[in-house]
Amino acid sequence: MKFLCECGHAIYDQTDYLSYKAYLISDQDWFNFLDEIDDAIEKTGSTTEEKEKALMRVRSLAINLTKLVYQCDECGNIFFNNSYNSSPQLEMFRSCSDNPNKILLKSAEADK
Ligand SMILES: [Zn+2]
Repeated sequence: MKFLCECGHAIYDQTDYLSYKAYLISDQDWFNFLDEIDDAIEKTGSTTEEKEKALMRVRSLAINLTKLVYQCDECGNIFFNNSYNSSPQLEMFRSCSDNPNKILLKSAEADK
């Protein structure tokens, strides 16, 4: 996926580990997600098939609960993508600061 920010900068989502992209989970869903991870670890059977099934359940839930967020690293505008199909539904938010933080979505663990 590629789209243009209002400043003219192109934002690409064609690889992994992007420093300007994040996955957002609502607080209303966060603890259910953590409970699902706990269950996958603690309540899953010992067979490879049972472990694979639990892993796929967690991954599926992660995909269903998250919204994609992008930040333009030129101007700092934030975009929420409300769609998972090929045609994005983007909603933009602009900082009210003259000097916005342009690395809000960068990894908490830096460039490990
Ligand atoms: Zn921009």
